[in-house]
Amino acid sequence: MAVETATLSHYVAGEWLSTSEGEHTVDVNPSDARQVLAHVPQAGKETLDRAVEAATTAFRPWKRATGQARANVLHAAANLLAQRRDDLARVMAEEVGKPLVEAGLEADRGVMILRYFAEEAVHPNGAVIPAQQEGSLQFTIRQPLGPVAVISPWNFPLAIPLWKIAPALAYGNTIVWKPAEVASLTAHRIAEVFHEGGLPEGVLNLLLGKGSVLGDALVGHEGIRGVTFTGSDGVGARIAESAVKRNIKYQLEMGGKNAALVLADADLDHAAQLVAGGAFRFAGQKCTATSRVIVTNDVVDTFVDKLTQEIKALPLLPATDPKSAVGPLITSGSRDNVRRYSEGGATEGEVVLGGGVPSGPEFEEGYFWEPTLIVGVSPDAPVAQEEVFGPLLVVERASDIGEAIEIANGTKYGLSVSLFTRDINTALEYINEIDCGMVRVNGDTTGVDPHAPFGGMRGSSSHSREQGPAAVEFFTEIKTVQINTAGQGGKKL
Ligand code: NAP
Repeated sequence: MAVETATLSHYVAGEWLSTSEGEHTVDVNPSDARQVLAHVPQAGKETLDRAVEAATTAFRPWKRATGQARANVLHAAANLLAQRRDDLARVMAEEVGKPLVEAGLEADRGVMILRYFAEEAVHPNGAVIPAQQEGSLQFTIRQPLGPVAVISPWNFPLAIPLWKIAPALAYGNTIVWKPAEVASLTAHRIAEVFHEGGLPEGVLNLLLGKGSVLGDALVGHEGIRGVTFTGSDGVGARIAESAVKRNIKYQLEMGGKNAALVLADADLDHAAQLVAGGAFRFAGQKCTATSRVIVTNDVVDTFVDKLTQEIKALPLLPATDPKSAVGPLITSGSRDNVRRYSEGGATEGEVVLGGGVPSGPEFEEGYFWEPTLIVGVSPDAPVAQEEVFGPLLVVERASDIGEAIEIANGTKYGLSVSLFTRDINTALEYINEIDCGMVRVNGDTTGVDPHAPFGGMRGSSSHSREQGPAAVEFFTEIKTVQINTAGQGGKKL
């Protein structure tokens, strides 16, 4: 099917900028790479400087604006996003290969995030602290950081930018946003929503281009006072190093090697259904996707049978098909990566499902890979240790819950995990012992309520949390204020 090709612009100081710096790249549909969705301009140093300057100029007035004024803009953006929900869902399905139904749910979630932080803008932002000085008033005020860099990944091209942008704006920061290059069209649509929602010029600036070209200059720019990043660990480590050098605040949310633990007393049918969905929906391209399932020896064969049936029931189709559950990989390079791990895993364990490119005319022009299940992999194998970020699940065996927890904790990551059991005592022990930021019992490792704190432990995060009541911690810093009666303030011994 022919699609219209959009020509995108950067958004700087309230204007859409076409630029002649660098070359344009093309943004294609991963379900059918013949479809060119957009021409993407590449920002260079000049556009970056303009964006940071615009965010700097806009900062003081935006910080001074009332919470209600900021809330009004966020509500206006939420209303526009809600009106455009189906269009945005289609754009995401085409651009990043997110199955259409899931893409619609992501748009809904974006609306909820905007509404939540609109209300946050008028909530209390400090505390009164009893002073040692008689007659003094002491309190804290949370203040915004200044212009912050938002660097977002492609896999949640709407929800992740919004769960960074919305709190940044609510608490009075201004933004220079660099989305993943392959999600430029969705990013453009989001910037349009803020523009039309009445956001003052310069408060949000969008720079399109490659992270490898633009990233270091953005994070290292002297006008940037904080950076919030979601993406891979390698890029995260580089950002942290640069931020530490300039002593600016940084926040990193990175990869995972998320496990589901299945015990003999679990509802195995329910567990198989949730593990299959958690591992393979959106082709496993979620930081919280289940990529290991650790099953006790007594039920492993029964569970693998049930799991195989559930995986086969998930429709592998182009993402824009409303029946699609799995969809393509984002690029041919990502598919090559999954191929490498499938082949490596096959030498370690037994591939009981998938392991190749699916056949059929609907798959020929896209980056599809069959949902792949490998059984009997040892916990220290690369395929059981490293993030694959694709439709590949390994089954590991454990003798009991203690060993299952040890295996689950035995990677460098600590993002999301789930235990399937009916035993409350076992569940409580696991909640205490597991080293992950997102802990479920009888649930899917993916997904989180839009108003609940989100983030990982150990190598998955810089240990802060995003979303909900946690977001204020990163996007503000505290001033402690003391007011004394004239002539009475002063010395404390
Ligand atoms: P990525 O390659 O690390 O890219 C993330 C962002 O960083 C993109 O905007 C990218 O731009 C930019 N970037 C690349 N090089 C940079 C540099 N040197 N300096 C600054 N920015 C740079 O990750 P991805 O492939 O988009 O996303 C997949 C990864 O994100 C997986 O590891 C996944 O687990 C993780 N993730 C984590 C969470 C979480 O909350 N924990 C959520 C979602 C995804 P370009 O796209 O232009 O290269």
